[in-house]
Amino acid sequence: MAHEVPAAARWARLVSARDAKLIDAGAAGERTVARARVVITLILALIPVQAVIEQPSHPENWVGLAGATLGMVIALMLVGVLARGYYRPWLGVVTSVYDVTAVSAILGTFILIGVPQIAVNSRIVFEVYLLAIAATCLRYERHAAVAAGIAAVLEYAAIIAVVHGRWDPGDPRFAGYGDFSWGDQIGRLLVLATAAALSWSILRRTERLRQLSTHDPLTGLLNRNVLEERVGEEVIRARRYRRPLAVAMVDLDWFKRFNDTYGHTAGDAALRAVSDALRSAMRRTDIVARFGGEEFVLVLPETPGPDAAFKVEQVRAQVEALRMDMPGVEEGRLTLSAGVATLDPDRDAGLEILQRADDLLLAAKRAGRNRVISDSGIAAGESPLAAGAAPPAR
Ligand code: GH3
Ligand code: MG
Ligand code: MG
Repeated sequence: MAHEVPAAARWARLVSARDAKLIDAGAAGERTVARARVVITLILALIPVQAVIEQPSHPENWVGLAGATLGMVIALMLVGVLARGYYRPWLGVVTSVYDVTAVSAILGTFILIGVPQIAVNSRIVFEVYLLAIAATCLRYERHAAVAAGIAAVLEYAAIIAVVHGRWDPGDPRFAGYGDFSWGDQIGRLLVLATAAALSWSILRRTERLRQLSTHDPLTGLLNRNVLEERVGEEVIRARRYRRPLAVAMVDLDWFKRFNDTYGHTAGDAALRAVSDALRSAMRRTDIVARFGGEEFVLVLPETPGPDAAFKVEQVRAQVEALRMDMPGVEEGRLTLSAGVATLDPDRDAGLEILQRADDLLLAAKRAGRNRVISDSGIAAGESPLAAGAAPPAR
């Protein structure tokens, strides 16, 4: 029966699958934007301040000043929230839409105070839309570019509609500041949409480049650099909170022979098939990486040694049962050997756990391959694990 994933869980998955480094970069970008927002709000606030000084009897000028004050309060609040270290990727989407909407609010104020010609022909204020859209790139969040672009186009279209609906384009007030021209207005909407599309594509490319620098292109698994970084982090976390941690080093058996028999293309396809099997066998909180050629590393946080050895033994059996049904391959079978090391919180400080898993892998190879050897109290040759037997039913 198909399992329905609730929308909230899907969203959480989308967010948690995001790259932590890009989120950090987004948080730094958001802080930069927050400071720039204070400066820009201050400069734009000069317009209503000047209006109130010159014409204090006009209530609309006070409305403008109140709006500018509110904008300043929000800008300062955002600086404060971010300075306390709070950041979530959705915040970047919300603040991007806020920035665009703040620009629309200023243009709307021009309508309110009876100068529609400024609402549709303003240069400086309209250009702040472009700054707001460009600044989405600093959030490293492509949904922010899409959201800001859609908000800008819809809100500005609404401004055009209101101005066009309430005033005749031939109205003399347009003569002073600029005509109402459909060509100009459609051009402005296109500029907004293009700016958002450009920001989106910059962000998409950034994500792709980041993906290339963190993942192995053949299998899509994490690469060795990221793996070592993540193992280091997991070791620190497990030691600090006294939690179990296990690491398995996995190597395909006689893979050179597989390549020599069926060719490198079949070998590549086999590596992908094994990678898919590893990825789908492990939990989302586990880490699966390609360490090198036909070597993989599995990191199992929160998993005691015997459980980890049991899990890796299941994976070994799954890979043994895989049929490599690729063109030119008959009876293609692969087996793997693995060494499973558990964290020793008093001794391990860095990547020693990887080295111990590698030593145990070597022992598994020497003991005859197609087996799992673990350091958690299971002696090689004695246990069903070391003998490569099928795991007992749970
Ligand atoms: P053992 O059981 O001792 O591990 O033997 P083995 O043949 O697997 O080990 P060896 O280290 O001698 O050979 C590893 C082979 O993996 C050599 C290389 O051709 C193959 N290999 C490494 N990376 C790739 C790859 O990206 N694609 C393909 N097709 N083969 C690869
Ligand atoms: Mg090998
Ligand atoms: Mg090898």
